[in-house]
This record gives sequence, structure tokens and C-alpha cells, in this order.
Amino acid sequence: MTTDFSARCPRCDNRSFEPPETLDVAVEIVCHVCGHHGKLVEFADLATLDGIVDDIKKRARETLRTQVAQLAVAGAEKILRREVDAKVHADLLASVQSQL
Ligand SMILES: [Zn+2]
Repeated sequence: MTTDFSARCPRCDNRSFEPPETLDVAVEIVCHVCGHHGKLVEFADLATLDGIVDDIKKRARETLRTQVAQLAVAGAEKILRREVDAKVHADLLASVQSQL
């Protein structure tokens, strides 16, 4: 996560917030000036939210890429197994046929 964290309390305009450990739109933030608390999405500036959304997109893409690769490998394994089986069967058939 490289996003710079910048936030503002929607109630008292306090701007001094420490970045939370996890930058996620659902993280709870508390304003130490007025005590207002809510989700990060309420407090964070647009640039911060943009960064978080970009990060979520990047992670989603990586997850998808991994899952697509796993599916491709699983599909290839199935095809190969079937082809190997078909070849074994063909060889067996040929060898049986030659003995008849
Ligand atoms: Zn406040």
C-alpha cells in the first residue's frame, strides 16, 4: 500500500489523523477532537479513496489472474489425462488387434 493517507473529520474539520494500520474503506476512524467516529470512507479525502480503490482493483486483478491460471492448469490436466488415456487405449487396442 503506497497510498498517502489524508482525512478530515466531517463534523469538526479536524485534519490531524494518523493513517490506520489497514487502509480499507470499512476501517473505523475516531476523531480525537470531537469524538465523531465512522468508517474511513466518511473521513478520507478523495485522493486517499482513489488510492484505496486502485489498490483494491490491483489486488482483485492479481486474485483473478491466479484463479484463471489455476483453472487453465486444471483444464490442461484434464485434457492431457484424456489424451493420454485415449492414446493408451489406442495402443492397447492396436496390440490386441495385432494378436488376433
Ligand atoms: Zn471531529
